[in-house]
Amino acid sequence: MRLSLLLLVILGLTASTLAANLSVGTATAASGQKATGYLEVAPGSDPGTNIPVVVVKGMKPGPTLALVAGAHSTEYASIIALESLIQSVDPQDVSGALIIVPLVNLASFEKKVPHVNPTDGKSMNRFYPGNPNGTQTERALAVITKEVVEKCDYLIDLHGGDLDESLRPYSYWSKTGDERLDSASRGMVLAFGLDHIIFVTDRPKDPNASRYLDSTASTRGKPAIAVEAGYSGTTDPADVEALVDGCYNVMRYLKMLPGKASAVEHPVWIGKISSVTSETTGIFYPSVERGTYAAEGMKIGYVTDFFGKTVWEARAPSAGVVLYICSVPTMNKGDNVANIGAVINEP
Ligand SMILES: [Zn+2]
Repeated sequence: MRLSLLLLVILGLTASTLAANLSVGTATAASGQKATGYLEVAPGSDPGTNIPVVVVKGMKPGPTLALVAGAHSTEYASIIALESLIQSVDPQDVSGALIIVPLVNLASFEKKVPHVNPTDGKSMNRFYPGNPNGTQTERALAVITKEVVEKCDYLIDLHGGDLDESLRPYSYWSKTGDERLDSASRGMVLAFGLDHIIFVTDRPKDPNASRYLDSTASTRGKPAIAVEAGYSGTTDPADVEALVDGCYNVMRYLKMLPGKASAVEHPVWIGKISSVTSETTGIFYPSVERGTYAAEGMKIGYVTDFFGKTVWEARAPSAGVVLYICSVPTMNKGDNVANIGAVINEP
């Protein structure tokens, strides 16, 4: 009798210990552990890849938060922020768990190619929920959907200005119409702390055509935000710290860490975004800096031919904040020159 009771206790302990383990890809962490591994993307029509993943399992129960960076792997500040957080986070302090993917697009990082995965020329934040039979980008995103999105409760997708983008920090709050989801994601975006927030209402509602990582999470019932800091290949400490602090403060907001979460009090809310695209190929010269305000029709830059003659002037199509502006002289017809965000009342 006593023996069978003991056996039950042991079996029960084993079961609860097993249940407490969290496995993502090849990384498995028990309570109080930080484990590293890979999201294995098998070869298909093109080569496979192994995406680094870290699982941090806290000592106490709580939600699972996914932190993902490097879909665009020359948006370096976002990657360095998660590399720093991987080192600094202590599983002993955490309630719940973290799934951290600091560098999704390894080929972009290795080859220093902005915007896309050079293996197949696709953006690694436009083909969610992915396709196990597609090219490398689509196969990788299918693995991230299955291993990261489906195993988390909340998600933050970290970005920044790419090699050719001079960007001021901002975040996105996407209103889905689902009250529970929207109030949680609004709390997350305010806790993240960036003081310019883009209000988005036109994201995909179909989980099978979610396109973006944050929409892949939200269409699966998981509150998610996207955040941007850093620009033009830089890793300024202020940008990296803003991203790290934002992640930690969202953890406090989700009660995954002790302490009170602060919230940005009076953010500048941005509504419609006007993208300015170049009408011509040539050499680009910006006339305004990131984060400045442009009036409608204001000149924000110009393009010359290769002999220095001005052939086109870029003008703000509407008034607003210069969220980012092209930071390199290379300009092709149809390339993005700048994004101007219209300021709106608090939604
Ligand atoms: Zn990006």
